[in-house]
Amino acid sequence: MNKKLYVISGSSGVGKGTVIKEFLKKHPDFKLSISCTTRQKRAGEEHGVNYFYLTKDEFDSCIKNNEFLEWAEFSGNHYGTKKDFVEKCLKNGENLILEIDTKGALNVKSLMPDAVLIFIAPPSIEELEARLRGRHTEDEEAIQKRLASIKAEIKNSEKFDYKIINDTVENAVKSLEKIINP
Ligand code: 5GP
Repeated sequence: MNKKLYVISGSSGVGKGTVIKEFLKKHPDFKLSISCTTRQKRAGEEHGVNYFYLTKDEFDSCIKNNEFLEWAEFSGNHYGTKKDFVEKCLKNGENLILEIDTKGALNVKSLMPDAVLIFIAPPSIEELEARLRGRHTEDEEAIQKRLASIKAEIKNSEKFDYKIINDTVENAVKSLEKIINP
């Protein structure tokens, strides 16, 4: 089987992280790319495992030196995929998964047309909205902002190669396996 680059996107709250984690448990021959970020480390995260944590200056100098395959900004923090990280993995014959947003995914596709773009979608926007409201953790403004960003991601995903509906983690992992190991 050819070693490939897979890009997986999906809005937050959709459970894409869990689906990828379950897939990786069953397929240790796949590797998850480690991005760079300027955001603060969360509890339990480690440098070089979850992300490479950079200062704003370090990140800016990577942009200036053209070291990123793509990069993006979310809520005031920068996130980027290093070109050399991806190139090294593919050269080493590793199957690599990038977990990035849809805009970043489309940028990767334009530079690396062989990359396979996969979108993990909620069963329905209505169901997701009900789930967000049911949590009672966010106010109405935050919920509206999140829904707008989810709708924008769904629009971008029309250009993706595959779409997976995350009704259950088990089904989503099965769909992912069919795409990756047809
Ligand atoms: P978090 O801060 O929750 O770890 O990630 C926030 C968002 O950044 C997620 O939607 C994630 O997919 C996206 N992200 C993480 N790394 C990258 C990256 O290297 N490039 C882009 N474009 N998005 C990323």
